[in-house]
Amino acid sequence: MNGEGAAHDIDARLKAYEGRAAVSAGIGKDLVNEPMIRHWCEAMGDTNPAYEGPHAVAPPTMLQAWTMGGLSGHTGRSEAYDELLALLDGAGYTSVVATDCEQEYLRPLRPGDAITFDAVIESVSERKTTKLGTGHFVTTRMDIRAGGEPAGTHRFRILKYAPAARPSRQPETSRKPETRRPRPVINRDNAGFWEGVAEHRLLIQRCGTCATLRFPWLPGCNACGSQRWDTVEASGSGTVFSYVVMHHPPFPAFDPPYAVGLIELAEGVRMVSNVIGVPYDKVRIGMPVTLTFLRVDEELELPVFRAGGED
Ligand code: ZN
Repeated sequence: MNGEGAAHDIDARLKAYEGRAAVSAGIGKDLVNEPMIRHWCEAMGDTNPAYEGPHAVAPPTMLQAWTMGGLSGHTGRSEAYDELLALLDGAGYTSVVATDCEQEYLRPLRPGDAITFDAVIESVSERKTTKLGTGHFVTTRMDIRAGGEPAGTHRFRILKYAPAARPSRQPETSRKPETRRPRPVINRDNAGFWEGVAEHRLLIQRCGTCATLRFPWLPGCNACGSQRWDTVEASGSGTVFSYVVMHHPPFPAFDPPYAVGLIELAEGVRMVSNVIGVPYDKVRIGMPVTLTFLRVDEELELPVFRAGGED
């Protein structure tokens, strides 16, 4: 069989896994419980009052946490899923990276809820070539129930791939000049922010219910849960609340050492940005800074902060 035929043959074998179980009759290792909710909220810095007290619900985004196997392994993972991964390994797609997940919430989870779940291999993509290498995306859909009732859906996608050959490491000085800074991920929840940047306006979200300002942009208010919002334009003055100096690891398009600042805006919210106009070792906590827009390349402009108060 020639190469083309072999690729076609494996495509057909992969497709045959669509619709097969990935997990059958999984059982959450713990009931939904307050300590796990508290640890999650502390780790996330989420102080929403809905997640504590006698009527607490679990943060919806914890959905997957209740289904995870922990160090002792998966619960109820099917043979079909293991076979699919083995088939991909055998075809040379030995690396794996989680690419994205999507969740849908059908009912709130509360302490005491018993979690059960099933997962299905929803799709196996055709062969795709990405920057990481060539391989197949595998999407699984997990249906999660609480006390037998549908509670949510968690779709999880991985790329099983054969890594692209990497160029050998080059010394800093010969780094390719065309290497570009990473692009921001723009989605429906933060598009307004980037539209503001395009007009040289730094927009902060303001809750339409309790008027709490928030940054970075989020679909809902952490103070009251409301999804209504409008924006206020930042005045552009701020101070360095904290900073780090990056020495390692090296990233393409960044030239270490450089300072990354956590800037407290005059409006009270904080954002991570670059501090420019001052050597990296002269950045100080409390230093006044002023918003400016840095043209990084032909398609990317970023809000950054220049050391010094307003001119
Ligand atoms: Zn609010």
